[in-house]
Amino acid sequence: MSRRLKRIKANQIEEVLDKLETMHPEAGCALNHRSCFELLIAVVLSAQTTDISVNKVTPALFERYPSPEELAEANPNDVADIIKTIGLYKNKSLNIVKLANKLIEDFDGEVPGSFDELISLPGVGRKTANVILAEAFAEPAIAVDTHVFRVSNRIGLTDADDVDKTEEQLKKRLPKDKWIRSHHLLIFHGRKICHARKADCENCLLNEVCLKRGV
Ligand code: SF4
Repeated sequence: MSRRLKRIKANQIEEVLDKLETMHPEAGCALNHRSCFELLIAVVLSAQTTDISVNKVTPALFERYPSPEELAEANPNDVADIIKTIGLYKNKSLNIVKLANKLIEDFDGEVPGSFDELISLPGVGRKTANVILAEAFAEPAIAVDTHVFRVSNRIGLTDADDVDKTEEQLKKRLPKDKWIRSHHLLIFHGRKICHARKADCENCLLNEVCLKRGV
């Protein structure tokens, strides 16, 4: 009996990326922002909640606190009042006020551009740091969120049981100049077709090449 493949072959990766591009030409950052600071705050707020719900609260948040200086002075309870419709809003309010203070104390009020500096900020983990590097600084990075993790492993781009290993394998297998784009494509695919509860394989252009691991 032949052993079931755990990953697609290296020469199939380009086909997967091309087909994802065909299905999701509109893929891109879905968090509204006008600066690195706004992007950073929006990404921190997006943990375990949807980008749509974050986009609903950030206009009022950034109108009241347009820069790290104003946010650093904010009362976390007032911040919580503005963002209370999103998940984990109490912790997030505390974190973004602390984050603004750290930006001022350690980085002259600017968003830093290195991975190690980014993860030194309150509320900023590996995924957020990678998103900021890619979106704000155009540095090759792959942020692995729940969609990227699920879709990469279903397709067989990776064969990993956690997000860190998934990131590691994606970086080894995908061309570096496709890292940022692949991140967006995999997220959009997870949101629109390869859903967590029911993958819509019949309407997916990857139906032939995908290993459908766990589906
Ligand atoms: S074929 Fe099915 S499991 Fe594979 S990527 Fe498409 S929707 Fe997901």
